[in-house]
Amino acid sequence: MTQISTVNRISEQAREIDIIRSADVVVVGGGPAGIGAAVAAARAGADTVLIERYGHLGGMATGGLVILIPHMSGDDGKQQIMGISQEWIDRLDVLGGAIHPDRKDLGSRDRALIEKWKDYFSCVVNDRIRQSVYLDPELLKCVLNDMVEESGLKLYLHTWGCRAVTEGVTVKGVIFESKQGRQAIMGKVVIDATGDGDIMATAGAGFDGGVDGESRSAMLAVVFRLGNVDFKKFCEFRGAHPEQWKDVTTRIHALGNFRLLPFPTNRNDVMWVNNWVPGRSCLNVDDLTWTEVNVRKVMREMRRILAAEIPGFEDCFILDTASQLGTRGSRRLTGEYQVTLKDVGAGKTHPDTITWFPSLQLEEKPLIHIPYRSLVPQKIEGLLVAGRCYSSDAPANNLTNLIPHCVAMGEAAGAAAALAIDAGVSVRKVDIPALQTHLRRAGVSLPDSVSAVPESAEVS
Ligand SMILES: Cc1cc2nc3c(=O)[nH]c(=O)nc-3n(C[C@H](O)[C@H](O)[C@H](O)COP(=O)(O)OP(=O)(O)OC[C@H]3O[C@@H](n4cnc5c(N)ncnc54)[C@H](O)[C@@H]3O)c2cc1C
Repeated sequence: MTQISTVNRISEQAREIDIIRSADVVVVGGGPAGIGAAVAAARAGADTVLIERYGHLGGMATGGLVILIPHMSGDDGKQQIMGISQEWIDRLDVLGGAIHPDRKDLGSRDRALIEKWKDYFSCVVNDRIRQSVYLDPELLKCVLNDMVEESGLKLYLHTWGCRAVTEGVTVKGVIFESKQGRQAIMGKVVIDATGDGDIMATAGAGFDGGVDGESRSAMLAVVFRLGNVDFKKFCEFRGAHPEQWKDVTTRIHALGNFRLLPFPTNRNDVMWVNNWVPGRSCLNVDDLTWTEVNVRKVMREMRRILAAEIPGFEDCFILDTASQLGTRGSRRLTGEYQVTLKDVGAGKTHPDTITWFPSLQLEEKPLIHIPYRSLVPQKIEGLLVAGRCYSSDAPANNLTNLIPHCVAMGEAAGAAAALAIDAGVSVRKVDIPALQTHLRRAGVSLPDSVSAVPESAEVS
C-alpha cells in the first residue's frame, strides 16, 4: 500500500467562519444512506439540510455507476427491503429507467421465468426469482433530485463536509468547504452518511479503519460502461462457449492484476464493467490517483480484446467512466452495538431492529437484522452514522453494505433524528417502538417480532 508522503509541517492559521444556517438535522453525504436519511428526516417534519460534495445525488449508485440494486427479496418471495429503496424503483419504473422481475413473480421456480432472468446476476438465486433491479444512473439522479425537492429539505451541492463542530462530546454542526470558502451549518443532530465516516472521525467517535485485504469491501474500482454491445448475443456465446469466455476473462484479469467483469444494465446495448482493485485504500490520495489512472489503461485494452474476440462486443465503445471512484469500505464506527459476522450467519435478532434483509451469501441463510444501536456512536452525542461506515466488523460489513442496506440504515437514522428532536431527547434515547412504528407507517418492512418490543428498549 502506498503511503502519502509528508515533508515538514506548518500550522494552519485559526480563523473565524460564517455560520450560514441552523437546522434540526444536517446530513453529510448524498449517497444511498444520505438520501434515505435526509428525505426521511424532512418527511418526519425536521428542518433538514443535505450536503453533498459532488454536483449530483446518489453516491455509488449514480456517480459510481454501480447500477444494480440486488437482493431485495429472499427465497420465500417476500420483499424485505421496501421503504425509500422501493420508492426509487417505483419512480424509475414510471420513467422506464429500471428493469427487474415483477413483484408477483418473486420466489417463483417457474422455468420460463428463470430462463428469462438467469443472465441477470442475482435475479435468480437458489433456483428462484429474487428481486434485483438494474437501473439507469442518469434517471436516478433526476429521481433523487425530485425526492429531495418534494421533501422540502435544503440541498447544498458542490459542498465538501470537512469536520464536525463539537462542544465537549456533543456534535453541534458541520464545517464545510465550497467555492465560497469555509463555512458552517449548525444542527441539533448531524448524520454522517459520507460512506467513509469523514465527519465521525473528526467528532472524536471511535472507529476501525481496517479492511481485510482479500475481501470485497477492500477493493477499489473505476466502473465504466460499454455502449453498442448486444447483451443477449454475448449471453448466448458465453452459454455455448464457457471455456473460451473463461480464457478471455483470465487474460483480462492479468492485464492489471485485478478482476474486471461485464454486467447487464437496463438496456441490451449497454453493459457496466465492475472491477476489483486490491491493496489500495480509498482514504489515501496516492492510491486513489493510481486507481483512476491504471483502471483506465486496462479498460482500453479490455475493450479491444472483447471487440476482437467476443460476439456481442464487435462494435462496442467506451460509453463513460464513473465520475466517482468506487469505494466499498473504509472507516467503520465503534457504535453502541457492533454487527459481527457471527450475528449475520446466525440471523441474530434485536429488539431495536430497524431494517432486515436477505443474506448476500447465496446458499440458504437466515435474514440479517440491523439494530439501531449500530448507528449510534459510543460516547459522542448529537451524531448518527448511516451507510457503509456503520458499526460492524469487517467481514459483516462486507455482507451488509449494499445500496439498499445503506438506504434503509439512512432512512432509520433520519426518522430517529426527527423523532428525538420532537421528543426533546438525545438520539441515544429515542423511543425504539415509536421509531419502528414510524418506519412501518413509512412503508419499511420489519419483522413481526419487533412489534412486541418492551417499553424499556432504549439504546443506552
Ligand atoms: C465498484 C462497486 C461495485 C458495487 N457493487 C454493488 C452492487 O452491485 N450492488 C449494491 O447494492 N452495492 C454495490 N456496491 C456497494 C455500494 O455501492 C456501497 O456500499 C453503497 O453505495 C454505500 O452507500 P453509502 O451511502 O454509505 O456511501 P456512498 O455510496 O459512497 O455515498 C457517499 C456519498 O457521500 C458523499 N461524500 C463523501 N464524503 C463527503 C464529504 N466529506 N462531504 C460531502 N459529501 C461527501 C459522496 O460524494 C457520496 O455521494 C458496490 C460498490 C462498488 C464501489
